[in-house]
Amino acid sequence: MNQPLRHAQFGVINSYLVPEEDGFTLIDAGVPGLERHVLAVVRRTGRALRRVALTHIHPDHIGSVDALKQAFPDLEVLVGENDAEGLARNGVRATPARLLRGGDSVGSLSVLDTPGHSPGHLAFFDERDVTLYAGDTFVNIPSLRVASVVNALFPLPSIGTEDLARTVNSARLLLDVPARFLALGHGRVLRDPLPAMRRAVELAEKNIPPHPLLLRLAATISRRSGIPAELADVGRWPKK
Ligand SMILES: [Zn+2]
Repeated sequence: MNQPLRHAQFGVINSYLVPEEDGFTLIDAGVPGLERHVLAVVRRTGRALRRVALTHIHPDHIGSVDALKQAFPDLEVLVGENDAEGLARNGVRATPARLLRGGDSVGSLSVLDTPGHSPGHLAFFDERDVTLYAGDTFVNIPSLRVASVVNALFPLPSIGTEDLARTVNSARLLLDVPARFLALGHGRVLRDPLPAMRRAVELAEKNIPPHPLLLRLAATISRRSGIPAELADVGRWPKK
């Protein structure tokens, strides 16, 4: 297979074009404007965009869905069944072609249920190049951590994490996937990621409450970004 292509909007919001026999699957749809990049790749490679598979339905992962659907009317929009309602609530007009759950396939990708960051959060595993696309269960900015662990340099995925304890559980389940590459919603792709993933899960399970300054920062960001306060409640910390 050809290499998947990673595109990082503003350097921090990833989406991936995964090549298939019939064209590309896009994993996550970034923020508005991503469609221009996708169209350029489609034009350059002569390969159609067939489907967009969403790890979850937060605004930084769905921003170009409707523009892409307009550009490619046959595009299949695919989302976790427990995120379908959230997709519409977050303003996407396109109707999903299929609601996904663990065990399903999307082209060559296997679907894994990883609820927590959102209720219907999914990961995708590509056996061909042994890449695990894990969405926002882990974050790799500035280094690898479970999204339940707040980092002051890039706190948004943690603030957006809806259920911290379930996120940690899902992160632990992903340790059983024999991934050679870990491709996330935020941060660089990691090669041979399992030792770093294991360390990140162990740290997340230690149940260390975040520093009060971080909580204040998170609350400020929540106010300014308009993320609902209940999602910003980083005080709900996972139990051991
Ligand atoms: Zn995200």
